Parts: sequence; structure tokens; C-alpha cells
Amino acid sequence: MKRGIRPELVWGIGLSEELEGEILSALGSGYHLRNWPEDALPKERDIARCNPLVIWITRKAWTSIPDDVRRRLREWDIPQRVLVLEDGKSVSDFEDVVENGFLSAVSLPLTTKKIRDVIFRAKEVKSLYDDIFRMTREIMLERELLARKTDLILFLNQVLTRASESLDPSVILTQAREDLGLLLPIKALMAAFWQADEHGVLEGEFFLEPDMEAGSEEIWTGYLLDNVQRLTQRPVSGYQIAYLGPPDAGDVPPDYALDPAAVLLLPLKTAGHVFGCLAISRGLGHPMGKDEVQALYAAVNHLSLALRNAALFSEIKTKADHDGLTRIHNRRAFDERLVEELKRHQRYTGNLSLLMLDLDHFKQINDSHGHQAGDLVLREIGRVLQDALRSTDFGARYGGEEFVVVLPQTTEEQAWVLAERLRRAIAGLQFEFEGREFQVTTSIGVATLKPGALNKRMDLLRQADQALYQAKSSGRNMVCLSSGGITQPKAAAQAS
Ligand code: GH3
Ligand code: MG
Ligand code: MG
Repeated sequence: MKRGIRPELVWGIGLSEELEGEILSALGSGYHLRNWPEDALPKERDIARCNPLVIWITRKAWTSIPDDVRRRLREWDIPQRVLVLEDGKSVSDFEDVVENGFLSAVSLPLTTKKIRDVIFRAKEVKSLYDDIFRMTREIMLERELLARKTDLILFLNQVLTRASESLDPSVILTQAREDLGLLLPIKALMAAFWQADEHGVLEGEFFLEPDMEAGSEEIWTGYLLDNVQRLTQRPVSGYQIAYLGPPDAGDVPPDYALDPAAVLLLPLKTAGHVFGCLAISRGLGHPMGKDEVQALYAAVNHLSLALRNAALFSEIKTKADHDGLTRIHNRRAFDERLVEELKRHQRYTGNLSLLMLDLDHFKQINDSHGHQAGDLVLREIGRVLQDALRSTDFGARYGGEEFVVVLPQTTEEQAWVLAERLRRAIAGLQFEFEGREFQVTTSIGVATLKPGALNKRMDLLRQADQALYQAKSSGRNMVCLSSGGITQPKAAAQAS
């Protein structure tokens, strides 16, 4: 036996000393024969541990060994078993040679040629097995790669479909956090968008994780601001903050600590124009494969498109709902809102009030100071309305120099107080145009729907309009209630 090369193992079961000797001498060096006598058969662990090339089994031993050992040997794929037939028996006497999983049967006497033929065939079969084993492993590997590719395609498909389902950036980003989480462990996801005004100064919109502590929110806002400036090389004049939806109870708990080394900062762009960036704070220790990185970039491209569409949609919607001159809501938006508020009023208890404003002698302002001066006044009135209203109130330019305000959950008296405040604020404005100063006053009609009152949109509008007409005909610069009350300007009230 040469050192370094392990001898090929050959087993015998129930071989006589004579057969053992014959086999050993035919095999020559390089083989180790282990013969198991019938009263000491191989145990399960011998079968699990050893890997003999061939087992020589006498027919007598095969038929007399216990069933469980025989079954174990039969189910053992490799090695090859060779049945040694007794004197005078031929292969045909043992029909089930193949059925019992024998490679072959040899009759006595065993000659060197027979023994070497058996070994030769066993080696051929073994190398065939090795080939099949290797090929199977390759196929399994291919299948794994294919499964991974399929997973990535499914992942991209999910991102694409879900991202195009919504036109709300917050919804898109919340879904993206969940979807991208299939690819990498996400602790937090934030985003920044920006838009340049006519002077090239940027206005930002930041989307942050909800429920962050004030300190974390400040740190992340600063981080986004720095990166917007770095990516655009432009000053940012201000930013608004919006929030993502709450995270799913996934396997990665949210963590809002900012570690810049663990943040993937991905620019969002369409047609080569960068309009925002995603900041993904990820758990470390999960290196991504090249294919996963590619999938991530493809997913972010899809997201860019979806987010850009959402931004364009909201821009168009804002334009459609707002008046170009005063920048407050327009009549279209007011009509929609009034219908909604009337429905809400019918469902719940509470008052719903409506103010209708009309500037007094506005034509004269245009006539004596010019149309531009009139525009300046209208813009200023828009600002006064915006400043005076609560977030649930809804002010709009109804047309020309007429304005309306919808006041949910507001009694006639409360509406009157607000109307009076508006009237005074407007009368108190000092205008100056091309060196000439002037003032403007307004008349206001107030209508209120009490709880449970049957309401029709046109009725409420008509009532407010009638109250406004009343204010005009009673001398202007005053508030009239559709129920009949009047408040006059201080000076007029004192005079009367
Ligand atoms: P009254 O007190 O009875 O309401 O008198 P008034 O002059 O305000 O009434 P009228 O409805 O006759 O005039 C409204 C004027 O508002 C007519 C129009 O030139 C002017 N106006 C309407 N829209 C605009 C606008 O967008 N810009 C400017 N500058 N003027 C406008
Ligand atoms: Mg008018
Ligand atoms: Mg007017």
C-alpha cells in the first residue's frame, strides 16, 4: 500500500476463508477487503460510514441474513453488490439478481479474471454515479439561481404595480418601504423632493418616518437638507414636512438613529433630471449580491417615475383648484367643498355657515387707480382670508371681487364674529399704488344651516347672497345675517 493513497474498500459477507484469499490475491495491492461473517453482520452505522466499491455476498449468506439487514443492503444505492453463487448453480437459478439490486452474479470457481471484471464494472458504474451526482448538483444550483431570478422579477413587478396604484407620494413611499424591505433590511426610509421657483431658489418637501422623536426628526431634516444642497448645489429657501404611513410589523424593527455610513442615498430622476432623493437606513451585515443591487436600482427607477407622476398630478390639481391671482381656492374647488360639507352636515349634528363677501365700489378703484391696483387689492384680500381662517374653514375667490368662506361646525353668531373681524381687517388695509393711497371696504352676507335643517346647496348660496344684497343696499361696509341681523361699521353705527 502506497502512503498517501487510501486503499479502495471492498466488503465481503459470509465469504469462506478460501474465497477471501482468492479475492484478495486477484485484487492485489491498493484494495482492502473486509469480510463480515454471518454471525457479525454490518450494523447501520457501518453502512452509514463506509463506502465500499463492491460487496461480495454468498448466496447462502444473502438468503440467511435477517430481513432488516437485507433490506438495508438492498436500499443502499452504492456500492455495487455481487452475488457469489455456490457450486453448480448458474445465474438463471437466481432470477431476482437484478431485482435484489445486484450488479452481477458470478459462479464458482472465482477466477482472477472474473474478480477483476467485476471490479472493472463496479468502477465504471461508480464513475457513472459520480457524474450523475455532479450533474444533479449543477442542476440544483441552476434551479436555485433561477428561483432567485424569479424572486427578483416578482419583486420588481410588485414594486412597479404598487407604485403606479397611487398618486399620493406618502402612500407610494410607505409601500416602497415595505416592498424594498424584501430586498434589504430597512430600519427607516425618508425622502426629499425639491422644486425651483422663478428665481432658481429651491423649495423642499421632506417625507419622514412617522412617530419620530423631535430630536431624531431634527437630525434627519438636517441630513436631508445637507444632501439636497450637495446634490443640487443650490440654496434651499424652505421646506415642508410630510410623513409616511406607519411601518408594518415586519422583522426589522424601525430604528431612527442616523448613521450616515448605513444610509443608502439614492437620487430620484426622470429623463436625466434629478428631482429628489431616497434615504434608506439599512441594517448592516447583509451584503447584497450584484443582481440584487441591479434590482434595487431598477426598483428605484420605477419609483422615480411614480413619484414624479404623483408630483405632477398634485401640481396640476393645485392649479385646477386655485385661483391664479389670489392663490386661494377658486370657485370650482369651492363648489366641490360645499357639496361635501352639506353632506357632512346632514350626517352629523352641528351648524354650517357660509360667508359671501363683495368689495364695495370696486369698479371705482379700477377706474381711478388702474386695473393693476385692483389686482393688488384682490391679492391682499386673499392673504387676509388665508390668515384669518382655521384649517377647517375654506375660503375661495368666487369670481371677480367676490369671495366666499365655508365654515363647518360654526353657529350664526360665530360666523358673524368672523365676518365682522374680516370686515374690519379689510377696511383697515392701507393701499398704495404709484404714490397714491387708498382704502377698500367690503360687504358681507352670512347664512347658517342649523343642525338637522334640510339643506340645498342653492338655498344656502341664495340666503348668503340675499344677506349680502341687504348689506349693499343698507349702505355697504357691513355684515348682514340672512336671519335679519345687521352689523354696521363703527362710524355709521355711531352716526345713527
Ligand atoms: P358694489 O359695491 O355694488 O359691489 O360695486 P362694485 O363696483 O364692486 O360692483 P361691480 O360688480 O359693478 O364691479 C365689480 C368690478 O370688479 C368690475 C370689474 O372690473 C372688477 N373686477 C372683477 N374681476 C377683477 C379682476 O380680476 N381684477 C380687477 N382689477 N378687477 C376686477
Ligand atoms: Mg360684485
Ligand atoms: Mg363689488
